[in-house]
Amino acid sequence: MARFGMVIDTRKCVGCTDCVIACETENNVPNGFSRDWIVQISKGKFPNTQVEILSERCNHCTDAPCVTSCPTGASHHHELGGVVLVTHNECIGCKACIESCPYDARFVHPEGYVDKCTFCIHRVEDGLDPACVSVCPTHCMHFGDLDDPNSEVSKLLLMRKHHSLKPEAGTNPNIFYLT
Ligand code: SF4
Ligand code: SF4
Ligand code: SF4
Repeated sequence: MARFGMVIDTRKCVGCTDCVIACETENNVPNGFSRDWIVQISKGKFPNTQVEILSERCNHCTDAPCVTSCPTGASHHHELGGVVLVTHNECIGCKACIESCPYDARFVHPEGYVDKCTFCIHRVEDGLDPACVSVCPTHCMHFGDLDDPNSEVSKLLLMRKHHSLKPEAGTNPNIFYLT
C-alpha cells in the first residue's frame, strides 16, 4: 500500500498564500475557515535572523490520534495512500478528533461535520496533484508515495535535510519540510 505525503521546500516558499486560495476554491471551503495556512517562524539572533515559511495542513499522520479517538469510525485512514478522511454522514460532531489533533488541523464545517485537508483525494484518484501543490508558483510543494523509493518525495528526503512538525507528539506525520 502507498503512503501518501508531501515534501515542502521551505527555501522556495515565499508565503504568497496561493496554496490557501487554491484549496478554498477547489474544496468549497466555507468563509472563515481554512484547510491550509501559512506560518512564519523567525530563527536566529539579530543581525543573523532568518524567517522560515511553512505551508501547513493536516499531516495525514500514520499514528493519527484523530482516528483512534473518533467514537464512530467517521475519521479513518483511506485505503488509497493512508489518507486520513472524515465520512461526513458518520460524524456526530463530538469534536473528540479536534481535541486530540496536535496540529489544530480540523474545524467544524457549518453543515455540522468535522472537516479538514483531504490531500485532495478526488484529484489524486484522477492522477492529478492536490490543488495547493499544482498552483504553487515556486514549485516548492511535492506530493507522492513516501514508501516508494523511486518517488520524487522519497528522493528529496534522501538528498535534503528535513523535519516534520511536532515529532514529539508521536503521530508520525507524513508532511516533511526541507530546510
Ligand atoms: Fe489527524 Fe491532526 Fe494528524 Fe491530521 S494532523 S491526521 S487531523 S492528528
Ligand atoms: Fe469522529 Fe466526528 Fe466526533 Fe470527530 S467529531 S471524533 S469525526 S464523530
Ligand atoms: Fe487543500 Fe487539497 Fe492542499 Fe489539502 S491537499 S490543503 S485539501 S488543496
